[in-house]
Amino acid sequence: MRLIVTGGAGFIGSAVVRQAVAAGHEVLNLDALTYAACLDNVASVADRANYTFLEADIRDRAAMDQAFADHQPDAIMHLAAESHVDRSIDGPGTFIETNITGTYTLLEAARAYWLGQGKPEGFRFHHISTDEVYGSLGDTGQFTEDTAYDPRSPYSASKAASDHLVRAWAETYGLPVVLTNCSNNYGPYHFPEKLIPVVILNALAGKPLPIYGDGSNVRDWLYVEDHADALLTVLQRGELGRSYNIGGENERSNLELVQTICAILDRLKPGPHPYADLITFVTDRPGHDARYAIDPTRIREELGWRPSVTVEEGLEKTVRWYLDNEAWWRALQDRQGVGQRLGVKA
Ligand code: NAD
Repeated sequence: MRLIVTGGAGFIGSAVVRQAVAAGHEVLNLDALTYAACLDNVASVADRANYTFLEADIRDRAAMDQAFADHQPDAIMHLAAESHVDRSIDGPGTFIETNITGTYTLLEAARAYWLGQGKPEGFRFHHISTDEVYGSLGDTGQFTEDTAYDPRSPYSASKAASDHLVRAWAETYGLPVVLTNCSNNYGPYHFPEKLIPVVILNALAGKPLPIYGDGSNVRDWLYVEDHADALLTVLQRGELGRSYNIGGENERSNLELVQTICAILDRLKPGPHPYADLITFVTDRPGHDARYAIDPTRIREELGWRPSVTVEEGLEKTVRWYLDNEAWWRALQDRQGVGQRLGVKA
């Protein structure tokens, strides 16, 4: 297939790009290269003949029209977004502009291209979203595709708005769309302001490991390579107009997660004291959702997808990757602003 992947220099988008290029698709990686981007994430495919990079902003309609005209895609996978919850609390404006206005601009460019091509049957606009649109769960239950939207943070509200726009473009204009809502990802190339890299890198530096509140908030963790595999599965075999929840059925409290990472580090790179001694509880994030859990029955039963690793296996791969790729994370930590913002995304 000829694919446009937006946000392909980010964490999840780069995993999609690496897998799609390896699978032989003709990939245009379209990314504005914000603070969260890193072209090193796609260095392993940069020389491949079926890979092209375009620096462009999804809010720029003329640039989007040009990208569609030049690349002539069979499908677009839309991952470009402002993605860090803590940043959305400090400054929601860019989240509204990129996640809502940017998605609107991309939908209009996609619609114009699709109409211009004579509405090809196989065309797809794949919108990538989050389980955070569903709000917060109590001690039991899981999010299904029918769970009512109840976003709580500026980030999740902006993603919920973008999901609604995509569905509206399908209903109103007939644009062929598929949507996916995924739980928290982790793995190689995770930007060093998110919880798991913060914990690994602070531990290696002997610094406190910050955990919001009492650490009881529960998230459903998915290895990023499994997410990318699920996205390519939905793109190629998902039913048009349908949403798919993607999750690993790997619920862990933040405290359990951090303790697991500490135990892996104690084994792989023993320090003078157990790393768990560095755990420090910090003031909770405002409006911090208590629990997220995904019911992945639809994607498993309809498309036969399931994750390849447990959270313990995925965390071990991740810790090993950070130990082996110090140059990657040191370069990002040295970027202005990032070092001061080592918050906790959870
Ligand atoms: P990320 O922040 O690592 O990457 C986002 C990428 O989008 C960056 O490369 C950035 O440069 C690019 N971008 C931002 N604004 C842009 C714009 N205006 N035009 C073009 N490019 C722009 O994010 P991520 O964690 O890889 O998330 C990717 C997608 O998956 C997002 O839509 C996010 O909402 C969704 N998602 C993330 C998670 C998670 O746990 N990280 C879970 C579920 C869903």
